[in-house]
Amino acid sequence: MKIKTLALTALLFLTGCASNNSYINSRQIILENRVYSIQKNELKEKSFFSYPIKFGVVSDIHNEGEKAKKIAKRFQEQRVDAIIIAGDISRYFGDYEHIPESVEIRNSIIHFLETKKPVYVIAGNHETRDCYFRTISKLTKDYNNLFDLSTLKYADLNGVNIFGVSGGTFFLPLGGFSVKQEIKSIDDAVFSLDNDPILMLSHVPPRFNHKGAIDCNYNIKINKTFKLGKKVFKKGKVISNRHVYEDILAGRADITKTNSRNSGLKELTNLIIKHNIQFSISGHYPTNQGANDLKQNLEQGKYYNQLFMNPGGCQYGMADILTINKNKAKYELLKIK
Ligand SMILES: [Zn+2]
Ligand SMILES: [Zn+2]
Repeated sequence: MKIKTLALTALLFLTGCASNNSYINSRQIILENRVYSIQKNELKEKSFFSYPIKFGVVSDIHNEGEKAKKIAKRFQEQRVDAIIIAGDISRYFGDYEHIPESVEIRNSIIHFLETKKPVYVIAGNHETRDCYFRTISKLTKDYNNLFDLSTLKYADLNGVNIFGVSGGTFFLPLGGFSVKQEIKSIDDAVFSLDNDPILMLSHVPPRFNHKGAIDCNYNIKINKTFKLGKKVFKKGKVISNRHVYEDILAGRADITKTNSRNSGLKELTNLIIKHNIQFSISGHYPTNQGANDLKQNLEQGKYYNQLFMNPGGCQYGMADILTINKNKAKYELLKIK
């Protein structure tokens, strides 16, 4: 049985690598008043533009299509220039409760594609490599506004350069994206394209050092007994497993957060320091909606020289607007019911 599992794992992994989604043909894409060209997996925007650039940002959709639909509508009302999806599109991993993963990926991102705005996407730790590339590749044929930063080396836009770091550590043996492998394969060319600031789009956040940063894990203490579905959470109970408490946090139960632990990836912090990366977008911790720099948490609505943000989980109705103005950026939180 074990050998069989191993063989299957190896097969999944190999087919995953073999089906790497590459834009073989160079092509030009015109979206409204913007012109893009893709050559050798490098995306370049060639249109005229002016600052500020406004991005609608989501992460951790986890097949909550209805929430995604409402957020896509808000992005349109806010007149964002483009949309960014920071991974964890699938519900769990692979096909879940008889729903094919390809259907989940489509359901999760279709409403953003329907806005006709450029949509930049990466895979998180919940996507199966093979299925992700297959589904994104198919969607790209119907929606020329979809740009996959798990495949493209970078997006050299007017005013900002974006590169993606897909994946995480869970599910790796089953054919997921390895974040450490992804970091190794970053094309350093992105750091010397022009004078525009760099935006790192990584599903997993960098490691920070302070309380309340976007990479924090917590213990939570229940202050008032309450029910969530069929489960009862008793007053005084302490929960340290975030997969249990995220639903509680998102449900805004009466709780106290204690024992904050920074849990992001040091390799990503090293990249920030080495290449003086000014901005990043990450998800993975869906209740950590907010932003910080390397030392402290940042207020929304103010411009900063360095800003690393988490839009919160789209699965819980959270999103962000990120506005870049020359070498500064600000963020605003969105929350829908
Ligand atoms: Zn997630
Ligand atoms: Zn994740």
